[in-house]
Amino acid sequence: MRILLLGAPGSGKGTQAKALAGMYGLLHVAPGDVFRQEVKAKTDLGRLVQGIMARGELVSDDITVRIIENKLDSQEAGFVLDGFPRNVAQAEALDRMLGKNGTGLSVVFHLAVSVEEVLKRAKSRRVCSGCGRPYNLSSEPPEVAGTCDCCGGKLVSREDDKEDTVKDRLAVYRKATEPLVQYYRDKGLLEEIDGSRPVAEVTADLAGLLEQKGIVRRCNR
Ligand code: AMP
Repeated sequence: MRILLLGAPGSGKGTQAKALAGMYGLLHVAPGDVFRQEVKAKTDLGRLVQGIMARGELVSDDITVRIIENKLDSQEAGFVLDGFPRNVAQAEALDRMLGKNGTGLSVVFHLAVSVEEVLKRAKSRRVCSGCGRPYNLSSEPPEVAGTCDCCGGKLVSREDDKEDTVKDRLAVYRKATEPLVQYYRDKGLLEEIDGSRPVAEVTADLAGLLEQKGIVRRCNR
């Protein structure tokens, strides 16, 4: 099962990718998470991408594609891609990568949300500084304020969730990434999803579509 989640920053890609990966035993591949880990570990790559991310810009295609190639190499159970591809050149690189193994994407879910909703979510988004689990202070708060339910880590705001940076990221999304909606529609892979609904409702919708399309089979035992 090879799933791609497409959507603006704050559309819920990360949350839904984690849910699907857990439900179906898929590899969750998110370049944004890789870059944040590199920044935290103060590696050369981390130092290189830190400013780019803080400005809401995209890391170069060759660095990003190399990371994805390494991640997808030798994985067999399937994957859910979250945050890659982010432009047509990356989408074509992904087609080539998968084509080498004679495969392709099973489905592309486009999580659609309004600009107002994206700005509202960014304001209340927190992530665990330990395990990276995302929270929303209004809709998905932690049990103990400021503390991760999973690992007890401290919850922090993402540097790139500041209002001005979110606006810049949305502009980058509209220019570079949104054309991918048509790219995958033309390939007959696109499913439009209303991403503004509660998390569990969206997850149930995605799981239902995976079943309906015969990508996963319902187990009645
Ligand atoms: P995300 O966690 O997906 O919102 O990504 C955070 C940041 O990482 C983005 O704003 C970019 O700076 C960088 N990034 C993530 N994915 C990509 C990608 N596919 N191509 C280029 N830069 C990316």
